[in-house]
Formats: sequence, structure tokens, C-alpha cells
Amino acid sequence: MKEKTTFSSFPHSRTSDRKKEEDETFLRKKLDDHRSFSGNLFLLGALIGSGLWIWDYVTDPVGATETIGPRMLFFIFLPAPYLFRKIGNRHLITILFVGAVLFTEAVYLHILTRLHMGMIYGIGGFMYYMLLPPLALQAFSLRANIVYIVLATILPHLLAWAGFAPGFQHDHYAVLIWPAAALAILVQYFYDRDYRKRYELEKRLERMSYTDTLSGLNNRRYFMAFLKKEIERSRRTGKSFSLLMIDIDHFKRINDTFGHPAGDLVIRRLADTFRDEIRKMDFPARIGGEEFAIVLPETDASNAMKVAERIREKAQNHPVDIPGNEPARFTVSIGVAAAGAESDETSLLKEADEALYRAKREGRNRVVLYDSSSS
Ligand code: GH3
Ligand code: MG
Ligand code: MG
Repeated sequence: MKEKTTFSSFPHSRTSDRKKEEDETFLRKKLDDHRSFSGNLFLLGALIGSGLWIWDYVTDPVGATETIGPRMLFFIFLPAPYLFRKIGNRHLITILFVGAVLFTEAVYLHILTRLHMGMIYGIGGFMYYMLLPPLALQAFSLRANIVYIVLATILPHLLAWAGFAPGFQHDHYAVLIWPAAALAILVQYFYDRDYRKRYELEKRLERMSYTDTLSGLNNRRYFMAFLKKEIERSRRTGKSFSLLMIDIDHFKRINDTFGHPAGDLVIRRLADTFRDEIRKMDFPARIGGEEFAIVLPETDASNAMKVAERIREKAQNHPVDIPGNEPARFTVSIGVAAAGAESDETSLLKEADEALYRAKREGRNRVVLYDSSSS
């Protein structure tokens, strides 16, 4: 029994590994979908963080001369749009930006120590840290977001306890910022949940767009795209591949004898047979009513014939149980064509089709290899 083919990109992994891979795919997509949004918001953060020097100046024109330098440090966010475009590593970009935001928060606390009554009037400024970064950090995992919010909330307390912020009013800060932090966590949670729903929906739609509902195999459109790619790949790598074209014999008769729903069961059974008999890398598709095709990458004609023969034999020897009727026997005819250096989609399909036609002509329930001399 060969490995099953499914449409998931990780069909054979254990459930826990698979879950991990699914999560990683989700988080990658979340990051990729938000790259430009987050980059631009951080750019905005650079402008607001530095531009609020005007606030320093209004509250304390003298002290403000000392805060120009620290305010410039907010410019570390200027390259954010570029970095969000360029950095592929999800963990690196998460650590980089969470770290940078926390750094500017420490800078802001320092700014307040330079201003007259800064610790009283400036405390509200920490609200920005519950507002702008959580929005921009939506590109990251929910966990990273929550870690950020918690760290950003306690950082000023810690720095004050360590003696870096004389005059810091823990209680004032706490009554203002803690509720905001709780709110920010809730917002993150709801956003992540919404995004996940959208993601699942997109995935389902995508799967539907390339799957045939009755058989669960790939549909014709996806098959044509795959075949085209496989031809390009084979030209590039010089590795040949084969194509099977499969048609159920006298299928009309099966429908007429057992009824249309029974015919559907036969189609499903044949799809299962493919899954049992082919490798993970092979590509089975339903390309017509009772017509199927399988691309066998890196497979020469003689091996393709073996696969085809296995499928033919299995179909012949495994009648389908039909409720309230005798089991439905069925057979298939298969045309085989191997791609050569000259092949393109049209020629290869034509060759496999010709071989299939010959299999039908020669009595059905057989496998025929395309032979250029006999056409
Ligand atoms: P041959 O051996 O020459 O292939 O004969 P055949 O009867 O299989 O071929 P033909 O093309 O004459 O008939 C195909 C039949 O397949 C006709 C159509 O009603 C049936 N069919 C097509 N799609 C489906 C489907 O989804 N379900 C069922 N039950 N029947 C289908
Ligand atoms: Mg048929
Ligand atoms: Mg047919």
C-alpha cells in the first residue's frame, strides 16, 4: 500500500507536528498580510514620538532643551517600512520591533525625568504605548502581542524601582495604564480571532477552487496548471515524467444498471484507489465526468505502466458495494504517455488520449502506452 495523497501540504506528519506547521503557516500569513500596515504605523510612531517634543517644550521650555536628543531616538522607527518589507524571519522581526518599542518607552520615561512636573503631566503619554504599538504589532502572534503589552505595562514600574525614574508615581500610572493594558489585550484577542476566521475562510475557498467535490481529487483547472508547471520543471531539470489518462469502461451502463448515485460511488472508489496506489508527489485529478488523469513526476514509461497496471487491476478486482443491490463491478482503461524533451501540455495530453483511445478500441480494461509509430 502506497502513501495517501491529500491536498494538505503536510499529509504525513504526526498530528502535533502538523498543528505546529499549520500554526506557523497561519502566523506567516498574518505577518505577510500586515507587513505594509505595520511598517507604516511604526513610521507614524517615529513621527509622533519625536514630534511630541512640542509637548515637552510647552510644559517646560527649559527642560525641553535636554529632551531633544532622547526624542531623536524615536527615529529608530524610520526604517520600519523597509525592515517590514525585507526581514523574512518571523521571530527576528518580532523581537526587533517589540524590543525597539520597549526601548523607546524607557526613553520616554527618561524624558519625563528631565521635565518639570514631567512625572505628573507626562504620565498620560504612556497611553500611546497601549494604543499605537498594539495596532502595529498585529502582524505578530497573539502571544507576542500579549507579552508586549504586559512588558510595556510593567517596564516603567521596574525602571522606577531600580531608581531610574525619581518621582515616578506608581499609583497614578497604574490606575491609568493598567485598565488600558487590559483593554489592549482584549482588542488583540478579538482581532486575532477575527483574522483567524478570515484566514480559515480563505483557505477553504482556496481548497474549493482546486478540488473536485465528488471525488476529492484535484479539478481540471488545477490539473492543467500543474501539468504546465511539471513540463517546465522537467525541461529545467531534464527529468522526465509520465501522464496517465484513465476512463471508466461502460460507465453509462453502470449508471443505467445501478443508478446515478451508484455511479458516483464508483467514481469515489476509483479516487481512493489512486490515493492508495500513487506516491505523495504524484498528482491525481478528475478532468471530466468519468475521466481522470495522473501526473507521475520523475517516472519513466515502464514505471508508469506498472502504476497504471496496479490501478487497473485493483479496479477490476474490487467491486463497489451498492446498498440494496449486488456489488457493481467496474473496469478502467488507461492511456500512458511519457514526456520527452519536446513535449508540451497539448502534445502530451493528446498522446495519452490516443493511447487511451487505443485501449478502448482493443477491448477496454487494459493499459496502453503511447507509441508514436502506431499513430
Ligand atoms: P466507454 O467505455 O467508451 O468509456 O463508455 P462510457 O459509457 O464510460 O462512456 P460515455 O462517454 O458514453 O459515458 C460516460 C457517462 O458518464 C455518461 C454520463 O452520464 C456519466 N457521468 C459523467 N459524470 C458523471 C457523474 O459525476 N456521476 C455519474 N454517476 N455519472 C457520470
Ligand atoms: Mg468511459
Ligand atoms: Mg469518457
